[in-house]
Amino acid sequence: MEILVIIALALAIVHFGIPLSYYFIARRSWLPLPWRVKRDESYRPKISIILPTYNEEKIIEKRLDNIFSQRYPRDLLELLIIDSSNDETVEKIEDWYRRHEGFPLKLMHESERRGKAYALNEALKISTGEIAVIADADAFWEEDALPEAISWLSDASVGAVTCLKRPMNDGSAKIEGSYRNYYNVMRLAESKKFSTPIFHGELAAFRKDLLEKIGGFPTDIGSDDSHTATMIAMNGYRSIAPEGVLCSESVPEKGYGEWRIRRAQHLVQHFSRMLSHIGIAPEGFRKILAIETYLHIFNPWLLIIAAGILVYGALEGSSLSDLLLGSGLLLLLYSPYRTWVATQLYLMMGAVRNIWTKEIAWEKQEKYRKRTNEAIK
Ligand code: GDP
Ligand code: MN
Repeated sequence: MEILVIIALALAIVHFGIPLSYYFIARRSWLPLPWRVKRDESYRPKISIILPTYNEEKIIEKRLDNIFSQRYPRDLLELLIIDSSNDETVEKIEDWYRRHEGFPLKLMHESERRGKAYALNEALKISTGEIAVIADADAFWEEDALPEAISWLSDASVGAVTCLKRPMNDGSAKIEGSYRNYYNVMRLAESKKFSTPIFHGELAAFRKDLLEKIGGFPTDIGSDDSHTATMIAMNGYRSIAPEGVLCSESVPEKGYGEWRIRRAQHLVQHFSRMLSHIGIAPEGFRKILAIETYLHIFNPWLLIIAAGILVYGALEGSSLSDLLLGSGLLLLLYSPYRTWVATQLYLMMGAVRNIWTKEIAWEKQEKYRKRTNEAIK
């Protein structure tokens, strides 16, 4: 029995020790690094903003207002909306356009819904910009996020730029909030070191020649944003989340868990695919990719195995198991720990769920209080 408890303890130490050490080392050694990027704030290439939409009737007009309010020369941008909705999204976009005639907007409708990445690739084919900026309907760009993001691409070594995230509503979003603190520090530190393998579809700007080189967005896995940025980093370019580029997103009030599991599923798909590439990653990126892959695919399981052993030990009457299990449960009162444990559960559930569904075309999450007629019926 004792040996089992020691194994459980060792697993728990590894489970918490690796990410904590990674966090502290990244914060101390990478976060203070200079960017090593020559940034021209007046850089204004032609850009194509690509906004895929699936049943976004409730939010789309606000989102268009938000994109409209970004300071970027109108003659140097195009907004390509690629829609596969079966609600009133298209009508809402047309209404909005009537009030903003002259805004360089192109609306395409897909005859069939084939998932977000497929839609992005369709828009990419007709885009004319040097830079493709991916947007998402239920997020918002903070003031000047767009010109800020673009300015980082003035340096030829930067291939992709994403935003740091702030959740919009509170409530279940509290977990989301504390998760993001740790999370944003990591994105920033990895970006300064070289590149971050996790990107945000809420605002992700890619150099188009590089997108073409890697064959566009992957349509067979879900994390189109992170995977694309990572492939760009694999080609030796920086994929970064700089501090001045901020976006906020709404968090589902209902179905928060399902939402997190779906996103976890996509990250697991992305990192599983990267597993065989770690050895050939560019020097500055290898360690980041190796650790993040480990943290997303393997590390969560150590926690559940340790917990399983301790439960078994407790049932067998081991008081050391009682003590360790009790401390682990008591710590759940501490919110960063609770957030961490929840994230591990989402990653494991995501990995298991990947066995039967990849969630390439996912159910639209209700992120607003207003219910659809269907839900009321
Ligand atoms: P989340 O941010 O991970 O919760 O994902 P969302 O549900 O917000 O989806 C991201 C963006 O892709 C949103 O603007 C969706 O409307 C859009 N989207 C999702 N699935 C599809 C699809 O199958 N086709 C198209 N055209 N857009 C999609
Ligand atoms: Mn979204």
